[in-house]
Amino acid sequence: MHAATRVTRAGLPEPREGEPFLPGPVFAAPFHASGDGKDAPYVYARTGNPTWTRYEAALSELEGGPACIFSSGMAAVAAVFGAVLRPGDRVVLPTDSYFGARQLVDTFFQEMGVRVERAPTANSAQRDLVDGARLVWLETPSNPNLDVCDVRAIVEHAHARGALVAVDNTTATILAQKPLELGADFSVASDTKAMSGHSDLLLGHVAVRDPERIERIRQWRTMVGAAPGPMDVWLAHRSLATLDVRLERQTANADAIARHVARRLSPSTLTAVRYPGLEDDPAHAVAACQMTRYGTVIGLVFADRAQADAFLNHAKLITQATSFGGVHTTAERRMRWGSDGVSEGFVRLSVGVEHVDDLLADIDQALEAIA
Ligand SMILES: *Cc1c(COP(=O)(O)O)cnc(C)c1O
Repeated sequence: MHAATRVTRAGLPEPREGEPFLPGPVFAAPFHASGDGKDAPYVYARTGNPTWTRYEAALSELEGGPACIFSSGMAAVAAVFGAVLRPGDRVVLPTDSYFGARQLVDTFFQEMGVRVERAPTANSAQRDLVDGARLVWLETPSNPNLDVCDVRAIVEHAHARGALVAVDNTTATILAQKPLELGADFSVASDTKAMSGHSDLLLGHVAVRDPERIERIRQWRTMVGAAPGPMDVWLAHRSLATLDVRLERQTANADAIARHVARRLSPSTLTAVRYPGLEDDPAHAVAACQMTRYGTVIGLVFADRAQADAFLNHAKLITQATSFGGVHTTAERRMRWGSDGVSEGFVRLSVGVEHVDDLLADIDQALEAIA
C-alpha cells in the first residue's frame, strides 16, 4: 500500500455505525479504575490515554516499529539520551544538528559524566568516531545547514562495534526517509514541524527497531511526565491524513524555488543555495540513496546579515518566524540566535503550500529590491 493511502487511515478504529472516523480527544486525568486497577485499560493519563494510543498506532505503522509520543520533540530527544546514556558512556553527536539536542547533552548529560565527541554530518564524518561509543546520534538532513550523512553506512559500522544509532528524522519526515528500515535503532522526530504541519502545536515521538526497547522509552515518559495533551495529539492525528499531499506540494514548491534561485546567484546578494534535491548540491548523492523526497526546507546564503535581513523584509509571502515544515511559507536568519555554525547571511526558508507562481514572484521582487 502507498504511504499516501496509509496516512489517511493509520490509527483509525474499525468502522462502526454512527461512530466518527477519528473519535474526539479524550480529556481525562484519572480514568474509572476499581479494585487493583489491573482490568482498566487506562488508569491515569500520564501513563496512557486512548487518544495517544490511536496516534501511536498510526506512527508505529508508518515507522515500522513501536512508537511512543512526547509533549515535544525535545522531550522525545531527551528520552533517548535518558534511556540509553549512563556515566562514562560516549555519545557521538553531529557538530551541526539541531542546537537544542546539542545543548541538552552539553549541559545535563556531560555534567552527569557522559563523554561527547562530535563530527560534522557532511561526508558521514561521525562514522570515524564510532569506536567505543554507546550511542551515535545522527540528524539527516541536518537542521539548518541541510547536510546529509549515509545512515546505512554509519549503522553498519556502529552495529559491528556494539553502538546504538538514533536518527533525528524531523527535517525529512517518515514519508521521505525511514530510519528504522535504514537500520537505525531509534527514529526520533519533532512532530511540531512538517508531521503536524499547521504551526499550532508541540509534539514529538520516538520509534524503535527492537520492540523490547520501547518499554524503557515509555517508562521515561511516565517518570519525567513528558505527557502530551490530548487536544494536541488529536490535532496531529487529524493532520496526518494530509501529510502526503502537504509534502507533495511543499517539496514541489521547494524544488522549484531552489532551482529558480540557483539561476540568480550573485556575489553581492544571494551567494549560494542549499537543497538536497539539487543535483549539484554536496548532499544530493547520498540523499538520493536514502530519501524519497528532499524536504520542504531550503538554505539561502546571502552575502551578509544586511542582505539577508533586507530580503526578509521585502518578501511579502514569507512570514518571519522560526520553526519549519508548516503550510505557510516562513523564514528566518538563523544566526539571530547565535547557536548554529552557519554564516551571518544564512536564511532557513521553509516552503509552504501556496501557489508556486506567487512564491517565485515574491522571491524575485525581494531579490530585485536588494540588488
Ligand atoms: C524542532 C526540532 C527539534 C525539537 O522539537 P520541539 O518540538 O521544538 O521540541 C528536534 N530536532 C530537530 C531537528 C528540530 O528541528
